[in-house]
Amino acid sequence: MRMILLGPPGSGKGTQAQKLIEHFKIPQVSTGDLFRAAVKNQTALGKKAKEYMDKGALVPDEVVIGMVEERMKQPDTKKGFILDGFPRTIPQAQSLDKMLDQLKMKVDAVVEVEVPDAEVVRRISGRRTCQNCSAMYHVEFNKPKVAGKCDKCGGELYQRDDDQEDVIKSRLKVYHDQTAPLVEYYGKKGLVKNVAGQGSIDEIFHKIKQALGAA
Ligand code: AMP
Repeated sequence: MRMILLGPPGSGKGTQAQKLIEHFKIPQVSTGDLFRAAVKNQTALGKKAKEYMDKGALVPDEVVIGMVEERMKQPDTKKGFILDGFPRTIPQAQSLDKMLDQLKMKVDAVVEVEVPDAEVVRRISGRRTCQNCSAMYHVEFNKPKVAGKCDKCGGELYQRDDDQEDVIKSRLKVYHDQTAPLVEYYGKKGLVKNVAGQGSIDEIFHKIKQALGAA
């Protein structure tokens, strides 16, 4: 299974990706997580990416594409992958097509998780992320067992700088302007499966599996 998860920030892509990796036993490639790791480790890539991330803007295509190329060369992607947060622009999608051609692979499905903007703002402002393993929680809808601590690894939970309300609004605009056109791009290839991103985490997961014919 080689799939792309598309959807606005806060659509639950990351949460669903974590369930999908367990179900399909394939790795998740999240460009947001890769950037956050680079920022945490203060690498040159991280310093560059942070400038854009803090504003809710996209990191330039060439930077993202180079990073994904490196990641896709790792042997674990041979058995499949879930791309979460990439591609986010038409040039990124075109580069991915080229990259996969060279690796003699193709995308099997693009799942678009649909959530209205107002709901996105409500969800993201309560979102908390594990500093250690990137697992996600919500102060209201998906509370950790112990406040402020990750259920999986005990790491500290924090609020991402780009999860503040004004930044969320910029991220949504960027999504509608630059990422939403990918629905048409992949639609023309007959790959898009639409899933309504409202309901419980398990309900949405079930709908995704159904859309993929894997329920
Ligand atoms: P995410 O966790 O996917 O919401 O990503 C957080 C931030 O990382 C985004 O707001 C962008 O600044 C940056 N980012 C992640 N993926 C990409 C991408 N494919 N293209 C450009 N910027 C990205």
